[in-house]
Amino acid sequence: MDHAATTNMYEEVYHAMIPFLTTQYGNPSTVTSLGVQAKVALTQARESIAHLLCCDPGEVYFTSGATESNNWVLRTIGLTDPAKKHIITSSIEHPSVLNTCKALEKQGYSVTYLPVDEKGIVDPNDVEQAIRKDTAIISVMTANNEIGTIQPIAEIGKIAQNANIPFHTDAVQGIAHVPMNVQSMGLDYLSASAHKIGGPKGVGFLYMKKGKALPPLLTGGSQESNRRAGTENVAGIVGMHKAIDLLSEYREEFNQKERIVRDHMMKRLEQEIPGCTVNGSKETRLPNNVHVLIPQMEAQQLVLRLNEKGIYAGFGSACSSNEQTSSHVLKAIGRSHRESFYGVRFTFGELITIEDADIVVDTIKTIVLE
Ligand code: PMP
Repeated sequence: MDHAATTNMYEEVYHAMIPFLTTQYGNPSTVTSLGVQAKVALTQARESIAHLLCCDPGEVYFTSGATESNNWVLRTIGLTDPAKKHIITSSIEHPSVLNTCKALEKQGYSVTYLPVDEKGIVDPNDVEQAIRKDTAIISVMTANNEIGTIQPIAEIGKIAQNANIPFHTDAVQGIAHVPMNVQSMGLDYLSASAHKIGGPKGVGFLYMKKGKALPPLLTGGSQESNRRAGTENVAGIVGMHKAIDLLSEYREEFNQKERIVRDHMMKRLEQEIPGCTVNGSKETRLPNNVHVLIPQMEAQQLVLRLNEKGIYAGFGSACSSNEQTSSHVLKAIGRSHRESFYGVRFTFGELITIEDADIVVDTIKTIVLE
């Protein structure tokens, strides 16, 4: 029930990775047969990701995950045109975008943090209004990691294209559910991470449009066409490749299953727990995300109580939940300071059934109502 934090690795992914951790352990930058095997594996993975995104394999660069991909885009875009030091982003981005923007503000950048409406959606008109002569980039996430709301990426892409401003999306949470066509969506950059889609942790990629490739964030060897130094995580990339292939094949089927569970769970929670309300749009949200305000108990406490019963839920962003228990996303959709401590997130995969969801709802009721 905490897939937005991370997913279990598919068994097929694990089996695909094993040879590259044992017998086929070559370094893809070497000319030996072992090295060539590894290089072929990278090429195949690049092709598969390119197929998913409708781009060219040469536009896909492997990274250690979306945190690195997001940092790469935001921290180096200003180097391509030093006169441009303004970033447009949303107020509900993941900390890997928000905290990077805050760090850049200290270096002289100015950042517009766009509001969202009470449903948790960015208004494309606000994006258009925020554009300035010195805007270096627009960065809006595909889907929110807390409340799962899906942003109007294609519409924002059109605005960015018309204004000739590079457009980036953090697609970590969206990619398993939303078809991402970087061409029709007007995207120049897209970040993703393998461990949110049934792949391993510590590996991801950045799509960079041809002609818009950024200077390296990490300098060193000539890996990744001289743009991202460091020996590639070959086994991780092979695992990500397998996860992407499974995603391409089963995404629609899984989405449909998950949507039924999501709607059932949201309905029961709202009907059976007094004062319980869904956070964010009920329709324009990820099919596997149920995020509710449960007024009877603070989210952190409820998550710990559920944990004792073997149910893993989430609150806030997994990457910041050690430091704070209130949610910047809940505040952005108009919840009060107090309410922002009471949002609980349930995110799941295709194996969760209505019966499983019923057990979760019944357990929550036992904890908060009895
Ligand atoms: N962006 C979003 C929306 C995320 O949910 C996450 C993971 N919580 C990240 C970026 C960072 O991904 P990683 O930890 O794999 O670098």
